[in-house]
Amino acid sequence: MSKDLLVTIDSEGPLPGQLRTGGRPARVELARFAELAERNATSRDYERVILVGDGEALEQHGFAFATAAREGGFTHVRLDTSARRLTQAQQVRAVVMAGVNEFSVGLHGDCAELHDQLSGRPGDFAKVQTCLERLSKHEVRVVVDTIVTTANLAALAQIVELAIAKGASRVALWSYLPAEDTPETRALIVSLDALIPALRPAIARCREAEVEVVVRHVPACLLGDARDILDNTRPDALDGVRPGRPLAQFNCLHEAKCEHAEACLGLHHAYVNAHGWELERLQPTPRVRPWRERDRSVERTTGGAAGPRGHASWLALLGPHAERVAGVSLTRTEARYPMQMPDGTRFVLVLSARDDDARTFIQSASFNLAYTDVEGPAQERAIATFVEPVLRTIAANDDGSLCLDAKA
Ligand code: SF4
Repeated sequence: MSKDLLVTIDSEGPLPGQLRTGGRPARVELARFAELAERNATSRDYERVILVGDGEALEQHGFAFATAAREGGFTHVRLDTSARRLTQAQQVRAVVMAGVNEFSVGLHGDCAELHDQLSGRPGDFAKVQTCLERLSKHEVRVVVDTIVTTANLAALAQIVELAIAKGASRVALWSYLPAEDTPETRALIVSLDALIPALRPAIARCREAEVEVVVRHVPACLLGDARDILDNTRPDALDGVRPGRPLAQFNCLHEAKCEHAEACLGLHHAYVNAHGWELERLQPTPRVRPWRERDRSVERTTGGAAGPRGHASWLALLGPHAERVAGVSLTRTEARYPMQMPDGTRFVLVLSARDDDARTFIQSASFNLAYTDVEGPAQERAIATFVEPVLRTIAANDDGSLCLDAKA
């Protein structure tokens, strides 16, 4: 359980880490939040509440949410809204008086043209500047979120400089993770070979200026001595994850042998769709602790045909390839088949409920099919060649009679 709680007052503003508003409207009613806040005053389950909103509901109830948060014993009350709400000195003072002591502000360019294009809000850059100036007059914490894309990568140093100059308490550098994987959003995803060299001086500059800096959604193994600033924490959400908005999916094919896999998310699927699994670029740190497979129910057998009872229909999906798997394990959300290649490379073939937005090699009627947990010498292309006929057989055999629950 996180110590941070995300509360969506309305869906007019982008969620933290997103450039723009997306998803269908969803909101938390004031009464529901007030109830939770009252409990929190005693339980102290949460230390921080992040109030997200930019629409009518924020206008009408924003102060009441802040008051409820203050009374609920949250040490940190953060408001994540658009800069246009915080350009008047009086407005800012009133919000601070209501109990908000942290603000997150998106700054994605060093000039109006770039920032406004990325945020999709003409005139927003000027408002961000004014907002930051207003906030600098108060004893509050200001988090500047910068989402690094192919469009603003070249300007990253100047953006960070601007954030520092405007009084940022903390700079969060997000590797762009699109809410929707489309050709347009995919083109904005920065490849790791361009991202890492740009992040290094930006991180160094923040440290030099004694401004806290974190990076998000970046593989830990590429951060060198900056690994400690990787922040992949996610707040809990109080009914606030917008319905219909898929949670981002992450994987690393090295996770079985990497010591950092528990803290590092690896690559998000939209990244993989754009730039591949980066098997050669990622640098797993050999494990000193044993790898605990996420699925503890693996039933290894001496061959597919002698598969565990009750799992026969899942093995039948593989047709003749069932002979090549070491068994099948089933959970509510996944079917996992450990496999081994002739050169000794091992990996796990994974079936999960069909999700058109998730990264996958191939889809069948009911499933997304992929592989993970690679251990051994084979390169990405060789594994893909080896596994492809198996995946195609599963897709051909899936008549829709088997199903898995979607991941929460
Ligand atoms: S090898 Fe994979 S799990 Fe390990 S640090 Fe790199 S990206 Fe993360």
